[in-house]
Amino acid sequence: MKTKVTIIGAGMVGSTIAFSLILQDIVDEIALIDLNSELAESQVMDLQHSVPFVGRTTITNGSYNDCSDSQVTVVTCGAAQKPGESRLALVQRNAAIVESVVAEVFAKNPDSILIMVTNPVDVLTYFTVRKYPQAKNRILGTGTILDSARFRHLLGAHFDIDNRSIHAYILGEHGDSEFPVWSGATMGNMRLLNHGSISDADKKRIFEEAKNAAYTIIEGKQSTYHAIGAGCAHLIRAIVRNRKSVLAVSHLIEGIYGVSDVCLSMPVVVGRAGIVERLEVELSKEEQKLLHISATALKEAAAELS
Ligand code: NAD
Repeated sequence: MKTKVTIIGAGMVGSTIAFSLILQDIVDEIALIDLNSELAESQVMDLQHSVPFVGRTTITNGSYNDCSDSQVTVVTCGAAQKPGESRLALVQRNAAIVESVVAEVFAKNPDSILIMVTNPVDVLTYFTVRKYPQAKNRILGTGTILDSARFRHLLGAHFDIDNRSIHAYILGEHGDSEFPVWSGATMGNMRLLNHGSISDADKKRIFEEAKNAAYTIIEGKQSTYHAIGAGCAHLIRAIVRNRKSVLAVSHLIEGIYGVSDVCLSMPVVVGRAGIVERLEVELSKEEQKLLHISATALKEAAAELS
């Protein structure tokens, strides 16, 4: 079967997701859609010219009709964070855009898997799940896959260990109330907390650096796109190849440590059908408190939309 992804929003993030998919030869076809069709056309040309060096992906300047035979549609359109602006402040601006775009996608393909990237990603994922509750396992926000990657990168550097051997998550909101799960973080099968060479000050510094990375990057180059491009391509590969990967994506929470009716990131198993299993996540008492704080912040932000 042909594998196809439609990406809505051909800006920095949308085009970088496409580039990452092309470089890794993950899908057969990519359609890019943007309100600015001149931009989309130029991105398509530039991306097409990379294909002869690396693979065989077909890439087109598309329309919503492309969603009909796409297994996955990615929503990256909307405004990006301004320097110093929190992700939650973006909510009103982007909700209206996302609402109209998602209506077009599901009108063309009610079975599509929808990946939300536009920020504030958790609030917009929730906003969309509320409108399409029957698709709750097929509506995923990229959530804290990016924050967890930043965390693992920093931990790998701290211990001078391959970051693929570090298993550690940042969960909750993709944003200011996110929290690190130190209790379950391991290097191989050794708990990181048992490792002598990480102090409380190191832990604080590493988490703060991971959490604030987007602010730091945006100060210097206005937007972040390489890491989310790679992360989103990783998520798409898990779906189209039915990898059953455990990923911390934003999804509807229905009763984890007393938290429900909010979208935030917890590790789930991702495959061809979207979320194929919700995992029983173990959190310490302190982490459970942080989960509640994050859920409350996100519920307050979501309430502004209702
Ligand atoms: P960008 O401005 O470069 O691109 C956004 C594109 O959306 C523009 O080309 C614009 O023309 C298009 N657009 C706007 N309204 C549209 C509509 N109704 N239909 C089709 N296209 C439309 O911004 P960017 O840097 O690519 O960021 C995109 C979004 O991704 C932002 O909300 C940003 O905050 C978010 N983001 C999320 C993560 C994450 O981890 N979830 C990481 C980085 C960026």
